[in-house]
Amino acid sequence: MNSEQPIIRRKSKRIYVGKVPIGDQAPISVQSMTNTCTTDINKTISQIESLEKVGADIVRVSIPNIDSAESFKLIKQKTNIPLIADIHFDYRIALKVAEYGADCLRINPGNIGNENRIRMVVDCARYNNIPIRIGVNSGSLEKDLRKKYVKPTAEALVESAMRHVDYLDRFNFDQFKVSVKASNVSIAIKSYRLLSKKIDQPLHIGITEAGSIRNGTVKSAIGIGILLSEGIGDTVRVSLAANPIEEIKVGFDILNSLNIRSRGINFIACPTCSRQEFDVIGTVKELEKRLDDISTPIDVSIIGCIVNGPGEAVIATIGLTGGNKKSTFYEDGLRHKDKIDNDDLINQLEKRIRNKILKINKNV
Ligand code: SF4
Repeated sequence: MNSEQPIIRRKSKRIYVGKVPIGDQAPISVQSMTNTCTTDINKTISQIESLEKVGADIVRVSIPNIDSAESFKLIKQKTNIPLIADIHFDYRIALKVAEYGADCLRINPGNIGNENRIRMVVDCARYNNIPIRIGVNSGSLEKDLRKKYVKPTAEALVESAMRHVDYLDRFNFDQFKVSVKASNVSIAIKSYRLLSKKIDQPLHIGITEAGSIRNGTVKSAIGIGILLSEGIGDTVRVSLAANPIEEIKVGFDILNSLNIRSRGINFIACPTCSRQEFDVIGTVKELEKRLDDISTPIDVSIIGCIVNGPGEAVIATIGLTGGNKKSTFYEDGLRHKDKIDNDDLINQLEKRIRNKILKINKNV
């Protein structure tokens, strides 16, 4: 893939969530969060495994009470991927899950009470060698900031984040990342821009409560995409009111669109018109489904006719240009002599794409 202008990433410290590096030019990680009841251990493990299968680097699990913390202990023992424990207000839960192997604590120090409690959590994170994520959200700003700014503004979000940062600074703890998420894309972008100039910690970026798959994907692609293209952001979470698997897929699609990090098949397909020589939409849809397991990055162009087909095919790894009854197949930009029967396109393409991936992986 070509990148016209490489993105210059903001310099930041590095932390590790389990083995996953975050910040200091480490690959931008993609994460999501389980939406099962954490005390339903089997369901939660199964969702974590599904997220791992589609490429999640990290998974966050919410721990609303002590029972969930006990479940987390078992979940952690039976899963491999780094897990972030999401805690609000109760410092005792943070201490428990750190002991149970959490790879990161998502907790806002300013929300857990007196300095003694904060010190206990920070010391515990230090002792267990795990980082903290400060997560400020436009929906849960402190009362006094809501009063001061009237509504959630970028300045309010950053002021809130800096309060939490100050606590960690005071305890000389620098193993943390920060997010300042808003459901409004412009506010989120402004917040991260402001914050990126104030601290040199890694930033977890996302648009919070972005909405349904369509709406949320658009908002996330714009917000996260703009920030990443400015070099801001070290780990990404897309928040969708949908199966969290979609969040991982959209996260990778955003990274892929900016040529930052690729995973799986990047389909290039035309919108179709009356010139199409085969059912492009149906073909892409079916191939997407059949090839869902592919993690090797590869560009596949599926184009309905010769107007744009050859041009796209020569710059993709695999290309197809629709023709009358038979379509032309390309591999590494070279046209194959044998054409593919339009009646058997999906099977043939699946086979050829899988073969190509085998060849690519053998040469790695
Ligand atoms: Fe129509 Fe051909 Fe363009 Fe596809 S590539 S939209 S089939 S003209």
